[in-house]
Amino acid sequence: MSTAIPYDSDAAHPTPLTFQWTRVETSDEVSYEATGTCPVCGCAMTRHWTFGQHLLAKGGFHGRRNEPGPQAYHTLCRCRTTHLGRPPHEEFGCGALLVVAPPTLDDGPTP
Ligand SMILES: [Zn+2]
Ligand SMILES: [Zn+2]
Repeated sequence: MSTAIPYDSDAAHPTPLTFQWTRVETSDEVSYEATGTCPVCGCAMTRHWTFGQHLLAKGGFHGRRNEPGPQAYHTLCRCRTTHLGRPPHEEFGCGALLVVAPPTLDDGPTP
């Protein structure tokens, strides 16, 4: 894998990407994992989003969505390649802002 592409925090890919979504369910929450290739640097990346709220936090808002919904997802590139010039506080990615199309999961209506 090439590291020739430098980190660029101004990079963006506004066209929604079709990533592979995987639904991961635990006892009290559901998370979705999107896997795909960053079009800016060409590396594979994975990003998780968690849905659902803990019942204890009555009325609390954790900045999460309750469910996936139809909106696109924004994420920074999360690839594991070390791109040149990446700031030390950034652990992953090439700095590009990506838009990921929402999951089209076929598991029928939720009760
Ligand atoms: Zn990237
Ligand atoms: Zn990359």
